[in-house]
Amino acid sequence: MALSSLRADFYNTPGIVTIPPIPAPGNITTLWPPFTVTLLSSDNEAVLVDTLLTKAQAGSLADWIEDLFPDKRLTYIYVTHGHGDHFLGLSTLLDRFPNATAVATKGTLAHMEELLAEDQTILNEFFPGHQIDFPASPPAEALPSNDLTIDLEGHKLVAVPAGHSDTDDSSFLWVPDLKMAIVGDIVQNGVYSWLAESLNSTLRQKWIQSIDKVKSFQPETVVVGHKQTGAPDGTWTLGATQDYIRLWGSLVDVAKNATDMFQRIKAASPDKSGTFSLWWSCLQQFPPQ
Ligand SMILES: [Zn+2]
Repeated sequence: MALSSLRADFYNTPGIVTIPPIPAPGNITTLWPPFTVTLLSSDNEAVLVDTLLTKAQAGSLADWIEDLFPDKRLTYIYVTHGHGDHFLGLSTLLDRFPNATAVATKGTLAHMEELLAEDQTILNEFFPGHQIDFPASPPAEALPSNDLTIDLEGHKLVAVPAGHSDTDDSSFLWVPDLKMAIVGDIVQNGVYSWLAESLNSTLRQKWIQSIDKVKSFQPETVVVGHKQTGAPDGTWTLGATQDYIRLWGSLVDVAKNATDMFQRIKAASPDKSGTFSLWWSCLQQFPPQ
């Protein structure tokens, strides 16, 4: 029997205004970076990777899936890591696709549980007006540690734990038949990286190593969770993200405060989208006195 076809489609949605607790230098509007989610599909079934953040975003994503593939069955939703912008759309999506099962690695699932157990004041301040759904626990299950694969009509999709990247317990999904790595937030493409959880050189080195792990699969396509709208999904983003992490480390040693760090990064690595990620990371690296 011939193997079914396999394809990847991408849903891109713009960055969203995010309100920092302290205005960014120059009082500029700051955006959470633009998002990309991936829909893998074969003849009859589909697997979605990540979910977006707000109820409105997840609803529009569900509309797109139904419009594109009214006859395909969404079987799984894979979550790359435990940041809210990659899984808080789950409730909305599972309402629309009740036959789908949300899955993640054991580490990522524990991270999602941790986030939901926290006080949500900060996320509600960033995105006011009840934009986000916070279930009591993640509506997802862990993939068994001895078999991190998802079957898509005979095509294997492989979940690869990658440890610390822009947060702990991240992972990527490797699609051997397309030589494609779907990497969540391990890599960025034309947007500012979230250094807010990598404030020392040990964690930054771990992040660089997680990118080396992606490289070791020799992908031909690297699909990132946040990219500048319209940017091609090239493999150059792997090295560029590592360079940016090293740039951050070198400037931490010389910057005087959050504003100075912000301006130094802007000067050294300009014209990226998602300035909220930059400003918030500067505030975490150099907390105001
Ligand atoms: Zn993200």
